[in-house]
Amino acid sequence: ATPTAIMVGTGLGAKRGVLFKNAMALETSARIQVVVMDKTGTLTKGEPEVTDVITDSGISEPELLRLVAAVERESEHPLAAAIVRHADGQGLDTVRAQRFENVPGHGAIGHVDGHQVVVGNRRLLEREGIDLGALAAQRDQLAGSGHTAIVAAVDGVAAGVIGIADAARESSAAAVAALHDLGVEVVMLTGDNQATAERIAGQLGIDTVIAEVLPGDKAAKVAELQRDGRKVAMVGDGVNDAPALAQADLGIAIGAGTDVAIETADVVLMRSDPLDVPTALRIGRGTLRKMR
Ligand code: ADP
Ligand code: MG
Repeated sequence: ATPTAIMVGTGLGAKRGVLFKNAMALETSARIQVVVMDKTGTLTKGEPEVTDVITDSGISEPELLRLVAAVERESEHPLAAAIVRHADGQGLDTVRAQRFENVPGHGAIGHVDGHQVVVGNRRLLEREGIDLGALAAQRDQLAGSGHTAIVAAVDGVAAGVIGIADAARESSAAAVAALHDLGVEVVMLTGDNQATAERIAGQLGIDTVIAEVLPGDKAAKVAELQRDGRKVAMVGDGVNDAPALAQADLGIAIGAGTDVAIETADVVLMRSDPLDVPTALRIGRGTLRKMR
């Protein structure tokens, strides 16, 4: 690449808040064939809100929320924060959970007022040998409508389902369409469950969904996509995404994301706008053309 072309490309990017960290990043942008996008915080706003609290007979909604919030107060997960905010908003006074245990990619466990409380995804309850019973239908309905469905059990018995919605960013669908115009395949990669992910991917026009991926497995999924020598970009915001950003041919971080993601990435989108992903690829292609 000629130094002039690189300088022009980097300058053009900077003007639009697309920061290429080096010349290599700009050149690789021109060759991307697949863009993998994290769901939460990348395609969605990353501002989850509780929309539904459904309980089985035997426990009231405020009581379930109080027990679950006590456990989630000890967690640093964004979904946990949404549940705590909701409980606080209802004026429930939550005690602190004892013997808190974080289960990465699954949820959390703690003890509240002498009761064991398990909260997380369906897989966590399966792991604990707890049957969802009559709540399974409600869980499936929430997940099928694009909600993240959190399930909770008290003393080993399924007790409730909490529906959480995280709105898509305004420009996510337009970004996917613009990537298609560039001939690029778009993949969603998420730890969230299959039904929720597929629903949101469908709304955004995404080609392929890879869901229920454990935090440590995201990089391996990117490596699989690279197998036939395809050039893959990964777009992400979270600590979980850093290894996948490093594995990809091009790592792209959302500017509003975590420091680790920003440090690991080759490109940073200062405006946190998914539409800047196709912009980055177009600037790369323009730069390469000028070099020939
Ligand atoms: P992501 O942030 O991409 O959804 P994670 O690996 O952090 O991926 O979590 C995967 C899933 O595990 C979440 O979608 C949620 O269902 C469940 N989960 C993880 N941590 C918690 C928690 N503290 N409370 C409730 N559910 C959780
Ligand atoms: Mg994320």
